[in-house]
Amino acid sequence: METIFTKIIKGEIPCYKIAEDNRFFAFLDINPLAEGHTLVIPKKPIDYIFDLNDEDLADMMVFAKKVALAIKKIIPCQRIGVAVVGLEVPHAHIHLVPINDVYDIDFKKEKLKLSPQRFQEIASLISVEF
Ligand code: 5GP
Repeated sequence: METIFTKIIKGEIPCYKIAEDNRFFAFLDINPLAEGHTLVIPKKPIDYIFDLNDEDLADMMVFAKKVALAIKKIIPCQRIGVAVVGLEVPHAHIHLVPINDVYDIDFKKEKLKLSPQRFQEIASLISVEF
């Protein structure tokens, strides 16, 4: 199914890209809970994360781990929180959110407003660490 994320993968919609390989793609969430909030997605257009086959699901988490380690090098935080929600965009994705407190990963919280320059700066710094 064509979604906003499949268009991002194809480059039809711009994003602040962090990393990709032949099966997975990572980019900054446009409405971040924190600086460095990143989405990791499979290139396969599958809606529900638990419809991924075991190998893809496991490899996606390993890819997300690599992204999380890169985020942690750039964004000062205690941990990288991991969440799967999936109620807005019907394309499987893992949220990686730098956190110091449980409330930092509260999706009802007001989102940050960052300038395009700041998004680009964060994406460039993290992607170099990937
Ligand atoms: P969920 O489906 O997990 O509830 O939320 C989808 C997430 O995707 C939200 O955090 C939202 O900000 C993000 N998002 C939605 N559309 C876009 C987009 O066009 N670009 C980017 N970078 N993020 C998006």
